Amino acid sequence: MANDERKRRLGSADRDLVALGIATAAIILFVATGSSVLPGAINAIVSGGAGPDHLLVNALLLNVVLVIFGWRRYRELRDEITERRSAEALARELAEIDPLTGCLNRRSMTEATEQLRESAFADRMAIAYCMIDFDNFKNINDMHGHSIGDSVLVTMAQRIRESLPKQAQLARLGGDEFAFACPYDPATRDRIDDLIIRLFEQMARPFEMETVTLDATISIGVATDHDEHGYNPDLASAEVLMQHADIAMYTAKKQGKNRYFWFEPTMENELRFRNELETGIRRGLAVGEFVPFYEQQVDLESGDLVGFEMLARWRSPDMGLVSPEIFIPIAEEIGLITDLSDSLMDQAFIDAREWDESLTLSINISPIQLRDPWFAQKLLKMLVKHNFPAQRLEIEITESCLHDNIGLVRSIIMSLRNQGVRISLDDFGTGYSSLEQLRTLPFDRLKIDRSFVGELKNPNANSKIVDAIVSLGRGLELPITAEGIEDQAILDALKKMGKLKGQGYLYGKPESADQVRKRLAEAGRLVAGPQEPAKTEVEENSAPTMPKIANM
Ligand code: C2E
Ligand code: MG
Ligand code: MG
Repeated sequence: MANDERKRRLGSADRDLVALGIATAAIILFVATGSSVLPGAINAIVSGGAGPDHLLVNALLLNVVLVIFGWRRYRELRDEITERRSAEALARELAEIDPLTGCLNRRSMTEATEQLRESAFADRMAIAYCMIDFDNFKNINDMHGHSIGDSVLVTMAQRIRESLPKQAQLARLGGDEFAFACPYDPATRDRIDDLIIRLFEQMARPFEMETVTLDATISIGVATDHDEHGYNPDLASAEVLMQHADIAMYTAKKQGKNRYFWFEPTMENELRFRNELETGIRRGLAVGEFVPFYEQQVDLESGDLVGFEMLARWRSPDMGLVSPEIFIPIAEEIGLITDLSDSLMDQAFIDAREWDESLTLSINISPIQLRDPWFAQKLLKMLVKHNFPAQRLEIEITESCLHDNIGLVRSIIMSLRNQGVRISLDDFGTGYSSLEQLRTLPFDRLKIDRSFVGELKNPNANSKIVDAIVSLGRGLELPITAEGIEDQAILDALKKMGKLKGQGYLYGKPESADQVRKRLAEAGRLVAGPQEPAKTEVEENSAPTMPKIANM
């Protein structure tokens, strides 16, 4: 609308060039009247003859006025047109350019890509469309503020721009997402790979901001209008290129970030599957499809059952019993992990209240949950609601929790410990916790990851890592639980290492609440004495009977 108005006014300004016409006509008239008035006037001055006709003199004066008016109006209009044209150029620039980084914006990128693609097609070249996304940019904004975040984006844009050939078009699509389109010879697609590797090198340089130095990584997805048979018209539109690059970038994120992928058609199916999972999780949470399973934890020396680790399961109507390794990361990503965990904990506290009071309950907590400053209070409130003793609860956090906001994590741990809850460091050895963190954070237990414990399978294997972790635990006076005890050889090796707790398939796979109740009822370890479980179900462990290695 505003654009039309501007055009209209510009048009009328152009038409006002008529004023120039008037001035020109006035000049011609001036020459004509002047040529008859001036000789008469000179004659009258020199020889005292009769002066020129008064009417003509008046006409001449009027002419002079018209010339001056016409000329001034023409100058004014010229200035106005120049001003309007530059205002219009500025408005167009603002509509097409991202003001922070000077790159194209999303809207203009579509047009620029289309043009680049058409000219590449005419030159028998291919086009690569690359989507670049900063990994964990939100953390930078959250931890260092938006102005540092902005500076990082500006530096990022600069580094990308410097790496690109001059015919490439670069855009900031929004937030921390950039894209570039670049023509290339389809016979040498690896040039694009080289270009992307250069980009990764650029991003690996620290971002030196005024107050902080930051490290960053990016994920990239690339799409092209060529497939293995050459140019493919189905792929040849800016819209399809953008969509494919987006899917490839998303795959790079899923595969662990800091990497790139060329788009492949199978990725679309994976994305669809992932969307279905998301919808399924939302729906399943609302109708109570997520349930706690329990894995026995045993004192290795005595063989006594000491407690259970709660492990989430999804009883999906479409997929059966789904592993937490599939749905927990998605629940974290879509912001449902707290609701999911709360629902599981509610069920677990109800289940565990029936168990013998000597049995502990361990619960896994996601790093996302530990970003909530009220986490400890909410958990303690839940314990009160279920009248569940804090001393029976152990929460398991992984090393990745320690990278987020260590101050907050420490204060949460302290609050919980003050109330008697114990804290274990889960999957120890797979992350990057420093000895300093182990010394200063008041953990109650280390859990050795099953990938290390598994090495003890071979009786001749000497697992230096397990040995080292056990010695570390002894040095720091931290009790240790070994995960993944799958057979007798592992158990024997661990027993030689000292007084440990353990869990693993040797003692049984994770079981439903009903199966646990049945197991405990048989061993007389239910609070209300032995009782029959409500019903027996077919569970993930299709073996008809559980091994009864743990002493009840
Ligand atoms: P985790 O806490 O390390 O749990 C132990 C995992 O090892 C469980 O896998 C368990 O079934 C498996 N496992 C136990 N013994 C053996 C064995 O002898 N051999 C082998 N190969 N595996 C064994 P699961 O249940 O699939 O859970 C995977 C991970 O998902 C858990 O690892 C935990 O990190 C996470 N998780 C499970 N439930 C929850 C939850 O409610 N909340 C959160 N945030 N994470 C959860
Ligand atoms: Mg665990
Ligand atoms: Mg673990």
